[in-house]
Amino acid sequence: MTTRLSIPDADAMEELGARLAALLAAGDLVVLDGPLGAGKTTLTRGLGAALGARGAVTSPTFVLAREHPTASGVPLVHVDAYRLATARELDDLDLDYDGAIVVVEWGAGKLDGVADSWIDIAIARDSLDDTRDVTITGHGPRWAHLDARLAG
Ligand code: ADP
Ligand code: MG
Repeated sequence: MTTRLSIPDADAMEELGARLAALLAAGDLVVLDGPLGAGKTTLTRGLGAALGARGAVTSPTFVLAREHPTASGVPLVHVDAYRLATARELDDLDLDYDGAIVVVEWGAGKLDGVADSWIDIAIARDSLDDTRDVTITGHGPRWAHLDARLAG
């Protein structure tokens, strides 16, 4: 149920985002957790690039959520939930969880009940170098075989 990866640098983090993007479709939700500077936005940038997202994928801190049209027509919605304390506040954004691919930074614990299936990605910094320890967990029926799909 859980994949653990050691990601040596920012380029490798973008590549991981691209690998994830290949699995995603409308209605999918990815929740990113990890401290400031962990690489949440970097991963999302790689994911967006692989989807052909228009517009720069940057930290959406001041707008909370940004919608990027993509090549497939399914938009990428990139959310920074840092300043949202509760699930209720995130709910008030009225995001299109069914029609978009939604990626939420700082979303851990704030998305309960929003989807039956979602992917949690926790990023931890290694104290010695730039390496990030990434833990990817699929929840719900859609991601029952996420480990194999990531490996394949
Ligand atoms: P967050 O969104 O989690 O706050 P960012 O992705 O904005 O983090 O920033 C991560 C920073 O760390 C970037 O400047 C990136 O270039 C750098 N970095 C160095 N090593 C890595 C790595 N292994 N994975 C991701 N980012 C890395
Ligand atoms: Mg960020």
